[in-house]
Amino acid sequence: MRPPESDFLNISETFVSIQGEGLDAGLPCFFIRLSGCNLRCSYCDTRYAYEPGPSIPLQELIDEWKGSGVNLVQITGGEPLLQPAVYRLMHELLRMGAKVLLETNGSMNLSQVPFKVIKIVDRKTPGSGMAGSWFPLNLRYLNSGDQIKFVLTGQEDFKWAVSEVARLELWHIAQILFSPASQFLAPQSLAELMLDIRMPVRLQLQLHKILWGRRRGI
Ligand code: SF4
Repeated sequence: MRPPESDFLNISETFVSIQGEGLDAGLPCFFIRLSGCNLRCSYCDTRYAYEPGPSIPLQELIDEWKGSGVNLVQITGGEPLLQPAVYRLMHELLRMGAKVLLETNGSMNLSQVPFKVIKIVDRKTPGSGMAGSWFPLNLRYLNSGDQIKFVLTGQEDFKWAVSEVARLELWHIAQILFSPASQFLAPQSLAELMLDIRMPVRLQLQLHKILWGRRRGI
């Protein structure tokens, strides 16, 4: 019998790679990239995820994760919270013992995301063109294991991000990541800017791009 429609997810790609970002960087990880995004960031490197992909039963995704032999799972996009069935996927993966990361663009309400899911939430900057998309109430759904990520396109973005972090003392809420937007800001320049301000903010480089460059499925 065919499962109900709510048990399907529209998928852009699945793959196993080295986790390139955040506090789990360096670990093998099973990635589930969902299709569709409600934003259009200037530096987006996953435009291919805007288009709908195949609709896959949730159980098939879980079986694929089990077969991967990797405990760490990242659900990403596009914007994964656009698809209601993602909540069931998160609950099922947690129930089966996975460590689950959710990468989300900061525009979606996080109130229904299971507490045990580690949330990596973008704070879009002016340089992204999408700064107005932030859903401010989300700060109350984050904790010290979660991560707020600023992808920075240049010095103006950097100054803006520093003032946001300081204004809200975001380091008391979650881990703060500053990441240079690929092809916009050199990692060395960002490192030097960060050394000048001495805030409890972590430099994040995209390890997978250092290893394999800009391509899909890594
Ligand atoms: S939120 Fe992510 S996937 Fe969507 S446009 Fe921005 S960078 Fe691309």
